Amino acid sequence: MHTKTIKELSTLLQTKKISATELATLFLDRIGGSDLNAFLHVDRELTLRQAAQADQRIASNDVTPLTGIPIAHKDIFVTRDWRTTAGSKMLENYVSPFDATVVEQFNAAGTVTLGKLNCDEFAMGSGNENSYFGPVKNPWDKTAVPGGSSGGSAAAIAARLAPAATATDTGGSIRQPSSLCGVTGIKPTYGSVSRYGMIAFASSLDQGGPIAKTAEDCGLLLNAMTGFDQRDSTSIERPKEDFNRSLNDSLKGLRIGIPKEFFGAGLAADVEQAVRAALREYEKLGATLVDISLPKTELSIPVYYVIAPAEASSNLSRFDGVRYGHRAADYKDLADMYKKSRAEGFGDEVKRRILVGAYVLSHGYYDAYYLQAQKIRRLIAQEFQNALLGPDRQCDVIMGPVSPTVAWDLGDKTDDPIANYLADIFTLSTSLAGLPGMSIPCGFGQGEKNGKRPVGLQIIGSYYDEARLLNVAHQYQQVTDWHLRAPA
Ligand code: GLN
Repeated sequence: MHTKTIKELSTLLQTKKISATELATLFLDRIGGSDLNAFLHVDRELTLRQAAQADQRIASNDVTPLTGIPIAHKDIFVTRDWRTTAGSKMLENYVSPFDATVVEQFNAAGTVTLGKLNCDEFAMGSGNENSYFGPVKNPWDKTAVPGGSSGGSAAAIAARLAPAATATDTGGSIRQPSSLCGVTGIKPTYGSVSRYGMIAFASSLDQGGPIAKTAEDCGLLLNAMTGFDQRDSTSIERPKEDFNRSLNDSLKGLRIGIPKEFFGAGLAADVEQAVRAALREYEKLGATLVDISLPKTELSIPVYYVIAPAEASSNLSRFDGVRYGHRAADYKDLADMYKKSRAEGFGDEVKRRILVGAYVLSHGYYDAYYLQAQKIRRLIAQEFQNALLGPDRQCDVIMGPVSPTVAWDLGDKTDDPIANYLADIFTLSTSLAGLPGMSIPCGFGQGEKNGKRPVGLQIIGSYYDEARLLNVAHQYQQVTDWHLRAPA
């Protein structure tokens, strides 16, 4: 039962072959028996209460495709009933007075919350080793990182601890852990998913999205979690759409852009091999590969690591021990209380980013760093637009690796922030441009250690082209079975 897709579970629930309560119990038991540290807060009673409500809805035929489906939320989405920590000591005991819009939307659809998922502190990281509550282990090889920052979300799906999870992507945090854990995740176009109640890291980049086993499941989850929200000033007002409407379209004639910058030095040979094999599969499905160039790709690291910390330094100023968060026990005066509370409450990576952010925004450096970064951000977006939308529309989608390597060993990059930042090279540019991007499993790396280490294929599309991305991913998943493989 735990290996089934959302689509399959939905049918079983609605034909009453299994109840929401039975399903929730099954996954709660699996979570209880897991040693991955993927979950931070689980509350059986709360979950079973939601499951009973779902069963009532099913009994009275008041259903959506997600009614009764167990889901787990990244601990960056605030929840009224479960604690919300953002992986930080700062919010160790925080209970939100309201649900994030995304959580509200899923509750309204009738999903059953299994609990909250571990993540890097305030979503800053690429290995899920920056969580105050300890790292998450990669279910394929427990000595490896699961990727970050949504490491708990990807690990939970890979280990079949939940059929559905929410995640957020600021610079790759849906795609990269999906790649490293061998699951399917999509970051939609910026503005599609409400950021209300999603604890802010870098507001111009943060975007929620789903992680699941298949593209079709991701589409079902996107259908529920997208939509205009008045409470998010960057939410986009668009008519509701069915993201799974073109799943079965043929890929004949699809033009896939292959950016040469995604295949240069730094890309591990085993990752390249798996990605190239996937591209050959696409050719068999009728697609053509087109060589393209996105020369600004390498600038996305310096640009992102100026803009994201700048926004973070501002967003995180609210955690002062008064309005929110941890408050130091001993202090002399107000200023001392702020200083001590923040010094004690934030971890090293968060402090590093606040320092960098405050620096690049300060008088005399703003023009040299922040403003320059914003200009290059625009050029990065234009490069994508030229390839996908320009007068000579070179391609319909872009493909390449998600991560330059497979998952690395736990502890390997802990003390090396730059090594962590470099791991984001292929995901950051999509985020800076606000484009949708996804990761689907396409094989395994070579040199198995204590288990296999998955490889993900990245698919990037034009603005609001999620339905096409899901179609392109779904067609591949009809002729391959990487997405159905599960760790031992
Ligand atoms: N790894 C990137 C960072 O550390 C991206 C994180 C994210 O997307 N939340 O900022």
